[in-house]
Amino acid sequence: MNKIHVLDEETISHIAAGEVVERAASVVKEIVENGIDADAKSIRIEISADKTSITRILVADDGLGLNFDDALLAFRQHATSKVSRPEDLDGIKTLGFRGEALASIAAISKVTFTTKERGSPSPEATRVVIHGGELISHSSVGAPEGTSVIVDNLFYNTPARRKFQKSVATELAHVYDMVERIALSNRNVSFVLLYQGKERFRTFGTGSYPDVIAGVFGNGFVKELTPVSGTYGLVTIDGWITKSGCEMKTTQTRFYLSINGRQVSSRQLQWAIREGYGTLLPKGMYPAAFLDITIDRRDVDVNVHPTKKEVRLSREREVMRSVQDAIYNALHEERIFSSIIPQEKIVTLPPEIVGESVPEYVASRVPARSLAPFRQTEKQLRRTETYAAPPETIAFVPEVLGQVGDTYIIAKNESGDLIIVDQHAAHERIMYDQLLARSESAESGQELIVPLPLTLTKKETAALPDLLDILKKAGYDLEPFGKDVWMIRSVPVVSSTLGDPEVIHAIIGEALDGLGNTDEVLDRVLKTAACRAVVKGNTPLTIEEMQRLLRQLMATKSPYTCPHGRPTTIVLSKSRLAGMFLRT
Ligand code: ADP
Ligand code: MG
Repeated sequence: MNKIHVLDEETISHIAAGEVVERAASVVKEIVENGIDADAKSIRIEISADKTSITRILVADDGLGLNFDDALLAFRQHATSKVSRPEDLDGIKTLGFRGEALASIAAISKVTFTTKERGSPSPEATRVVIHGGELISHSSVGAPEGTSVIVDNLFYNTPARRKFQKSVATELAHVYDMVERIALSNRNVSFVLLYQGKERFRTFGTGSYPDVIAGVFGNGFVKELTPVSGTYGLVTIDGWITKSGCEMKTTQTRFYLSINGRQVSSRQLQWAIREGYGTLLPKGMYPAAFLDITIDRRDVDVNVHPTKKEVRLSREREVMRSVQDAIYNALHEERIFSSIIPQEKIVTLPPEIVGESVPEYVASRVPARSLAPFRQTEKQLRRTETYAAPPETIAFVPEVLGQVGDTYIIAKNESGDLIIVDQHAAHERIMYDQLLARSESAESGQELIVPLPLTLTKKETAALPDLLDILKKAGYDLEPFGKDVWMIRSVPVVSSTLGDPEVIHAIIGEALDGLGNTDEVLDRVLKTAACRAVVKGNTPLTIEEMQRLLRQLMATKSPYTCPHGRPTTIVLSKSRLAGMFLRT
């Protein structure tokens, strides 16, 4: 008995269909990409559905079209106009090339393909109708130049696959996402998407990135983006990303990335982008990123598989580093408050004038026990001020109006936006910057006149020698002093709280807790120290104090988030306020 047999033509096409055509969105993708490959300037997509499924997909383009014979040939398995020799596969510029899509789609649906060749003298267009892989008709009809493809009853003859289809809403969402991605990466083509005859979005083919983003996501969304462009190390990068302080999401659904013209999804790239944000990115949040990345093939072996979205790169680390730098630079050129940089002078009042005493107007309205933290803050702000950035690099400093709940600073900027600052988070950011700046200088620590003894557990004692250098950078100089006892010789300058043995213990605990290279551990130490250095709880502040805090905040590298990634600042723009009051 001969068990092995060659599959018939129809079976082959079903198998191939399984690969190319997973769902309605894949049909849309293949047909739309054919239009782009055919030099279309405008593409229209119409989707219809009943209660349970998408019933019709129509895609019409104004591209090159096909003549009578080619229109039929297009449906033959492995018939393509895009490659002819194996070498062609290396330099593929078109989106399709395998000659499978139309054959596969026609095998599992009812297709009406109408096409008229651009510039052809014949007045006739051609229509090919195929149902489940079977040719129904091949005729001449009247139609404009370009191609329109109607796909009805998708999966009608493949019940197994039909069962895998999700709700109309889900399938539609995939279609929208697919068309959005294609529109975003083909900005010279105009797209319009209709569902049940109603327009869902439209782009205009102007070639401009913001135009397309506005077309897809709306004008308001574009305002939350900042441009990224330039050459950094191995990459040239061009695109738009979410401004710091603007809305982030908990999912990474808004990454639109391409490398050398091909759409890619790459965890490494996503990671590099988020690293570029650093502490500007709230914990667990993702920005939007629309980026075209160009990498010179002479430097880097770029392997974007034509059918897959994953990318493989040689010198990946360097590439990612470059992307990270591009993002970092873009974000630090942008200023959320204002582009005006006034010649704000930092005036450090000498201690004999400011004194340790609490100004009378504060003393008179604050219960005595609340005064300690006030003094602390006051003292720390004076200490940190000397290390603040040079005045000319400070962006506009909002003008303080008052304080709410002993916790939030209320301020305004010169364009009339309302600004609310979490004073604790802001203070933490200032402290972190100070600690970081000092850790890079020689004067991170302040020697204690009387060294402080610190008793550690056995485990801590065992691990401490490895941490001594890191702690020293942070400002802590420790020396062994007999069994499990260490002498603290110096503590960080920025805050006296950091000299508290209990705090030091906590910081060492943090350093020991978890692995990481030297930089990572140091960063953890500095973050914990920053948090501990900041006076906890509610603290009434004077207008001058708050003004000083904001001035210092604006002088930090990342004013809008605390070192742990929480926001320091909320801006309610004038227009947002107008919206809230329903003024138009
Ligand atoms: P591929 O795109 O991989 O070549 P397809 O099955 O998608 O394979 O298409 C087969 C061929 O049909 C294409 O190579 C192209 O020549 C032609 N074709 C398909 N769609 C269009 C269109 N919208 N406009 C012009 N030609 C088209
Ligand atoms: Mg194709």
